[in-house]
Amino acid sequence: MQDREDERIDSVTYWQETLQFLRDKLPKEEVERWFSRASYVSQKNNTLTVAVSSSFIQDQIKRKYGKIIRNFLYQVSGQELSLKIVVQKLQKSSADEQLKPPVSISKGRPLAVKKHANLLPRYTFDNFVIGEGNAFAANASIAISRSPGTNYNPCLIYGGVGLGKTHLVQSIGNWISHNYETMKVLYVTTENFINEFIQSIREKKTAKFKNRYRNADILLLDDIQFLQNKTETQEELFHTFNALYDTNKQMVFTCDRHVREISDITDRLRNRFERGLNIDLKPPSYETRVAILRKKIEEMNATKIFSDESVINLIAEQITTNVRDLESALTKLAAYAKLVEKNITIEVVREQLNPTLEKNTRISIYDIQKIISEYFNISIADIKGSSRKKSVVFPRHMAMYVVREVTELSTTEIGLEFGGKDHTTVMNACQKIKNMLVADSTLEGTVSALVRKINEL
Ligand code: ADP
Ligand code: MG
Repeated sequence: MQDREDERIDSVTYWQETLQFLRDKLPKEEVERWFSRASYVSQKNNTLTVAVSSSFIQDQIKRKYGKIIRNFLYQVSGQELSLKIVVQKLQKSSADEQLKPPVSISKGRPLAVKKHANLLPRYTFDNFVIGEGNAFAANASIAISRSPGTNYNPCLIYGGVGLGKTHLVQSIGNWISHNYETMKVLYVTTENFINEFIQSIREKKTAKFKNRYRNADILLLDDIQFLQNKTETQEELFHTFNALYDTNKQMVFTCDRHVREISDITDRLRNRFERGLNIDLKPPSYETRVAILRKKIEEMNATKIFSDESVINLIAEQITTNVRDLESALTKLAAYAKLVEKNITIEVVREQLNPTLEKNTRISIYDIQKIISEYFNISIADIKGSSRKKSVVFPRHMAMYVVREVTELSTTEIGLEFGGKDHTTVMNACQKIKNMLVADSTLEGTVSALVRKINEL
């Protein structure tokens, strides 16, 4: 059994090493485009099987990279391993099983709750549901936990709110502090990092602050988008980064967007974040939403209240945004069931949950422009103006696109609110973003982050 386990870890590692090799060899976008959703399935009879989400990707990988991957596998494994690529929606039984962390934290052996500053014991790999949109990030997080500071350092996990970034980094922290007791794990939100730094300056204790972070074995820094405009903290983090990087200490960062979209951050720090592995989390697919709902219902001991299968399916159809919204929907429905002392029916779901992405008539264009200008850290005048600067044009196009998506306004009306532009300008802007969405899958995350902020108004 142990041998089988070891062998499994080896073969997972072969695939991970292959990914690392491709990352070193090919442009980042290319690796991201073809391999971000590929995940290890099995290795049997000299065949390494990897799953991808569509036959198109399967075909492209085979044609473009089949040969170099086979050669590489021969080099690392010393045997002729053939690579089999299958098309598979990642669901519980197969890939999920394979992606499970090592035996020590899987079911049946609950994680001993060890007090650790800032780490919440409820965040574990065990209760993280793996699906298409998060398999790569989850897989990497598990690999990092097993051998911190080696292959994936630093690692940046990014994606919209509620998709599981904090859950994953906290799981890394929990797993490592449980399994490698001597390692010093530091988890901190960027907001707290900034505050602690400011306080250390005020109290003239910066040496202590520096020591604390530069002596960490594992640094987990959550939500780095808050570094925007914080020049001195950026400077400090830059030096911390170098100290940790030079001594092979593991760093994992999270961000609500791609690093290139953080404005007012020094190039040298941005460049550090872009080193290593950058992985995006995508909103969960329908199947994953159902799996997450089932898991949460089980955790809430609410299987009786949600005994009707079609109720779960309907919730998964209605709430498409992120996991946090799925959790809120369940909490709301469970509270309702308790109050009226009834189980949840389809009618109750329809009545209680409004689709979150309904066209919004309440929100003004100004509100949207404001959200977008804050997100990209530019002025509203720039959003409405006609500067051709790249840093302004993209947010402007995005603003027009988002307004078009979430309101009922016509392109003419939108043009007027954007400094009196013609409706064709608006149409072109929307088309540009649509094209970019097709070409760059990471952009979806930005759009959903923005839509969510707008819906929260
Ligand atoms: P983020 O940091 O990306 O905003 P969180 O990690 O805080 O998101 O996740 C929001 C909530 O959803 C948390 O309660 C988290 O436990 C839960 N969650 C997110 N992804 C998953 C998942 N794949 N499986 C189970 N729970 C999840
Ligand atoms: Mg978070």
